[in-house]
Amino acid sequence: MSEQETVDRINAMLAEMPPLAAAALVQQWHKDAARMGAQALEPPPLMRAPEFPWGLHGLNATVARYECRQPGCSTVYLEQADELPGPLTLPANFTADDVSAAITAQADERSQLRLDRVQQAFTEHYRTEHPEALEEIHGTPSPAAR
Ligand SMILES: [Zn+2]
Repeated sequence: MSEQETVDRINAMLAEMPPLAAAALVQQWHKDAARMGAQALEPPPLMRAPEFPWGLHGLNATVARYECRQPGCSTVYLEQADELPGPLTLPANFTADDVSAAITAQADERSQLRLDRVQQAFTEHYRTEHPEALEEIHGTPSPAAR
């Protein structure tokens, strides 16, 4: 099956579904895209790559768990990966490809914002708990390390 055939079938399927069900399905695609985005992004050196301790399906499936990278440190940060997506930016006469691209772009953007928040949280944690490591990673002396 070609990509276009797939898109056509998805469009046909969505058109036949009750609007609420179609919206729920599209929202599920958002979630999937957000998860893939979270997994694809290179984690900063402060924390390990995210795990999804509640699995990838069902309730709580979108909570990502980030662990401090320092040996012996058990600090964990949980981040809700599933904010409600905002409106999509679509051209007039958009196609399913445009929708797919817009969902992916939006998910990428939210993944980056999420990673920024996690990074911020871990930077705070490092300032108090691992100032030497922070200095090593960023190459700048931290005030707490002096
Ligand atoms: Zn730590």
